[in-house]
Amino acid sequence: MNGKALEMLQKHYGYSAFREGQDAAISSVLAGTDTLCVMPTGGGKSICYQIPALVFEGTTIVISPLISLMKDQVDALLQAGIPAAYINSSLSGREAADRLETARQGGYKLLYIAPERLESYEFMEELKELQIPMVAIDEAHCISQWGHDFRPSYQRIQRMTEALPKKPIVLALTATATPKVREDICRSLQIQEENTVLTGFERENLSFTVVKGQDRLRFLKDYIKKNEKEAGIIYAATRKNVDQLYERLKKEGIQAGRYHAGMSDGDRMSEQEDFLQDRTAVMVATSAFGMGIDKSNIRYVIHFQLPKNMESYYQEAGRAGRDGLDSECIVLYSSQDVQVQRFLIDQSSDRSRMSQELEKLQGMVDYCHTEKCLQQFIVRYFDSTDIPPCGRCGNCTDQRESEDVTKDAQMALSCIIRMGQKKFGKSLAAQVLTGSKNKKILDLGFNQLPTYGIMKERTTKDATEFIEFLISQELIAVEHGTYPTIYVREEGKAVLLGNGTVRRKEALRTREVSQDDPLFEELRAVRKDIAGKEGVPPFVIFGDNALKDMCAKLPETEEEFLQVSGVGEHKLAKYGQPFISAIQSFKKEHPEREAATGTKEVKKPAKKPVANSHLETFALYQENLTIAEIAKKRELSPMTIENHLLQCIQEGREITMQDVIPDDILPQIEAAVNEAGPERLKPIKELLPDEVSYFMIKVYLHAMRTTA
Ligand code: ADP
Ligand code: MG
Ligand code: ZN
Repeated sequence: MNGKALEMLQKHYGYSAFREGQDAAISSVLAGTDTLCVMPTGGGKSICYQIPALVFEGTTIVISPLISLMKDQVDALLQAGIPAAYINSSLSGREAADRLETARQGGYKLLYIAPERLESYEFMEELKELQIPMVAIDEAHCISQWGHDFRPSYQRIQRMTEALPKKPIVLALTATATPKVREDICRSLQIQEENTVLTGFERENLSFTVVKGQDRLRFLKDYIKKNEKEAGIIYAATRKNVDQLYERLKKEGIQAGRYHAGMSDGDRMSEQEDFLQDRTAVMVATSAFGMGIDKSNIRYVIHFQLPKNMESYYQEAGRAGRDGLDSECIVLYSSQDVQVQRFLIDQSSDRSRMSQELEKLQGMVDYCHTEKCLQQFIVRYFDSTDIPPCGRCGNCTDQRESEDVTKDAQMALSCIIRMGQKKFGKSLAAQVLTGSKNKKILDLGFNQLPTYGIMKERTTKDATEFIEFLISQELIAVEHGTYPTIYVREEGKAVLLGNGTVRRKEALRTREVSQDDPLFEELRAVRKDIAGKEGVPPFVIFGDNALKDMCAKLPETEEEFLQVSGVGEHKLAKYGQPFISAIQSFKKEHPEREAATGTKEVKKPAKKPVANSHLETFALYQENLTIAEIAKKRELSPMTIENHLLQCIQEGREITMQDVIPDDILPQIEAAVNEAGPERLKPIKELLPDEVSYFMIKVYLHAMRTTA
């Protein structure tokens, strides 16, 4: 692999190794080959064009479909010290012209543009004056009519690359491309199909689950409450569903945001910002939300209703866990939703695509009914290949006992038939089963039925859930008229006749994806604070994975901080101190906390030592300033200064013990060390008054060792 590329990865992004497919894609592009890169969401596609852009002379053009996506990407690049900008309809003509001028002068390594720009003749003329080594096409499936987000302007890209004075290298990137869509992309952009870099579709940090036969709202409330500090998206089918769900959650005291196409632009923007900035943890939305969202710390995505096909589902669910940390994707299945989706397809004007859409919907329904590994199902759907069972998904981990409920099923089925098929809804049936004295029931004479009250021991709610379960088992069906009614299907009648058994698993327990770590919460607060000041989303400062790695490695010096995954030189210089200080004070309060050894990602040390901040401190120390004075002067915390001095000691620079330990404290430390022994710091500290810091003890011990 190109050494320069690896160096860039380390320096700008703070990662020590490429992920699967990244090196192949980058090498291919660096060798001048037009390439298609297919990687799952969160796989790390951005780096595949950003690093070549850093290596090449000139400005790489990135075609990106959404304004918000561009802004976040550019923010993230600027935070990593890479000059970049975007041009789209959110800018005034003046601003756009200024940016083009800067680009002409070579002021950006990357310039993001919306595809619609390519429709403008003037803009194309302007592009000809730039030095463009490469054009990257993000979300390249938008080029294909078979894709799920077709954008006509994408079809102009090829003409653009041909019109440029020197033909740039083309790199197309997408997460969701069935073989047909891949073919389309290659044909439109004249990429040789063999120059496709395709990594597996599996997402190793996601666990998929389908929840059936449960009270969805109750499940959702429990889930959100158990994971209240974590960010999540709840997808609902329609605007109305979103509004209802939003209100319900609000009533429960859950702070949620909402997003759908029926809201004003301003409202949508502010709801989205609140979510990106971690001000609201939960977003209730239609599928209109998320295309432009690169937020990396989304811990769960729940579909409150059935998505319309696997393509949409995997893309929406895939927004969880971009940062590589464990996350959950849940579909709350109810068979009625299938009817709703069918209805929507039926209503859509595009008749020619109807049978294709229905077929895709069936794929989604099959997903909800499979008892095999869900991740396996997904990979097979997109890639026609088999992977071993994931061991993480709802089906792989399902150890619930199932019980035989055939008798109960027969009671319910027979009751529904006696009440009259396709006449009443499920709640009335439940009331009859549980023996309700509801006026309607008495009026209809249902209290005379032999099945009246045969489930007396259950609540009406329980009985309703049981009927829903029978619907999910396709023994009962729902008829959608002015209001939904139910009837027993042929399969149900068979059960009634004693042909076939019905088994039901116990209710699913909600899992917690979050694990409490007080340090993580503190670092999260530090991050939020900085993000607020910088006006960018928190995950642009550092991802959750970087914070987790800080919690594991507990870095207290700048060198150590640079070892954290996701910390590059630029971010160290910009944000290192507040995080280091927070970790230092946390460790002071929790001296028992030790760095985890053998963390997953072991980073190679950076080649060059960075900023010699501690030497600046040393110079001031030599001018006889006290620690407090140095801290004030350098606008750093006293603890940071102490750490600088410790580092100096380790490097063999002379720090006189008497300068940093007050005269009256020295004998106390001496006594404590005599008593507790010099091996461990904590027992020594415990024998001393609070004002004696770990720093003083360390300095003392060091002096003792070197003079002994
Ligand atoms: P995609 O565009 O494929 O959905 P992104 O480019 O947004 O994915 O990357 C997803 C996340 O993975 C980002 O937080 C990114 O910083 C991280 N990432 C990318 N490459 C690496 C790597 N080599 N090592 C560690 N993390 C990485
Ligand atoms: Mg991306
Ligand atoms: Zn599985």
